[in-house]
Amino acid sequence: MRNPTVPDFSGSYVRYNTPLAPLVTWGVGGAARMMFVPRTEDELAGAVSWIHSNGEDFFVLGGGSNVLISDAAFEIPVINTVKMSAITVRRSGDTAYMDCLAGTPMKEVLALSLKNGWSGLECAAGIPGTVGGAIAGNAGSKAGSVGASVESVVTLEPDGSRTVWSGSEINWGYRSCSLFEGEKRIAQSVTFRTTSSSKDEAARLAAETMRGRKFQPVSSRTAGCVFKNPPGNSAGKLLDMSGCKGISVGGARVSESHANFIENHCGSARDILSLALLCRKKVLMKFGTHLDFEVKIAGIWEAWPDVGE
Ligand SMILES: Cc1cc2nc3c(=O)[nH]c(=O)nc-3n(C[C@H](O)[C@H](O)[C@H](O)COP(=O)(O)OP(=O)(O)OC[C@H]3O[C@@H](n4cnc5c(N)ncnc54)[C@H](O)[C@@H]3O)c2cc1C
Repeated sequence: MRNPTVPDFSGSYVRYNTPLAPLVTWGVGGAARMMFVPRTEDELAGAVSWIHSNGEDFFVLGGGSNVLISDAAFEIPVINTVKMSAITVRRSGDTAYMDCLAGTPMKEVLALSLKNGWSGLECAAGIPGTVGGAIAGNAGSKAGSVGASVESVVTLEPDGSRTVWSGSEINWGYRSCSLFEGEKRIAQSVTFRTTSSSKDEAARLAAETMRGRKFQPVSSRTAGCVFKNPPGNSAGKLLDMSGCKGISVGGARVSESHANFIENHCGSARDILSLALLCRKKVLMKFGTHLDFEVKIAGIWEAWPDVGE
């Protein structure tokens, strides 16, 4: 950190030397030297303004279900959104708009829509994490992705100014959202648009999405799919056919039931990254296909583990 000035905030939403491992689903990662845990939009704006005026970079952490954080201490401030959780509903004819703060768990948004028979977000059934993380990675399943149901997003720019984006002006790609590509901004809130359907039909679609997860190892520490599917192919299939299932590095092991999931059994972030790179190399050597990471790799890595790539 270039300027270690202690912020003068009246509320105690700033924490120091906070371990990040308990905040991520893989259960690994060093401590954040400084972490903001805003509860409101104003506290979030306060955190961003302080970071901006101190010339700092920052990292946004939602539910931690799609990140690999290095074992070393996290030097730049972390903004953890999980305490910013609220949903407000507005109706207009058959359409229900759900205004959600960025840290709202996606499962709560889905539960509310299923309870009311509102359709549109069934593709998110079973996806852990927050609303902010879901739109940053355009999370989804075979049934679709959340971006298709986004009416608008409010972001905070690094200088603390707010921007409102219409969902239709955002480029939603496969596990990507143009708002956050190469841009340091934070989703503050998201409005989802859903349509009145029947409760049974919405529940049926969500159950169908859940059935697609039958091979996912849900009782182990994972972060979902490690790699994105290459065009026209399945990363899990390529990893499986390259002999990755069950191989391990330290405490990290490739799931026996889904080759694109790495389970952490008391290993380190370095174990997980080493294993992921080894798997990627196996696929490259067998099929000539390069796999891109779906999980976001964050923190300080002195050097990436050498697997002879
Ligand atoms: C068992 C399991 C199953 C999964 N299944 C799926 C699946 O089917 N489909 C799928 O797409 N994913 C899946 N995932 C991955 C993960 O749950 C999703 O990507 C989820 O949407 C990530 O949300 P998060 O809040 O945990 O984000 P985090 O992991 O905290 O962050 C992910 C990225 O989003 C950024 N981010 C988070 N919040 C914000 C914000 N407010 N503003 C800007 N950027 C932000 C972070 O900086 C980071 O780059 C699965 C994970 C697990 C553990």
